Amino acid sequence: MNSRLQNLEILRDSLSQRLSRYHQHQHRAGGPLDPDFAEQASETQNDEVVDILESEVRDQLARVDHAMERIHAGVGDVCERCQAAISPARLKALPETTLCADCASGQE
Ligand SMILES: [Zn+2]
Repeated sequence: MNSRLQNLEILRDSLSQRLSRYHQHQHRAGGPLDPDFAEQASETQNDEVVDILESEVRDQLARVDHAMERIHAGVGDVCERCQAAISPARLKALPETTLCADCASGQE
């Protein structure tokens, strides 16, 4: 049993749920904009925040999918950049990572 894969599936589910909540917000599932202008202004600001959150969640989902593909290909524990083994502790803390700690810190 690959528990990292399970963790990734759980992570992917929760990210998908967040994404659909953001979509509901963007599409005004809760109803039309409030007629009160002040309310409307703050809702618009909210939209910008939600846009940012949504793109972050999309990025993370893409990383999760990518990590799952690498696990299925049998290279999930190997750094994508330098081919070194990624430490189990790092994989546990960051199941969606595909870089070792050295490469990841060099990237940021
Ligand atoms: Zn590396």
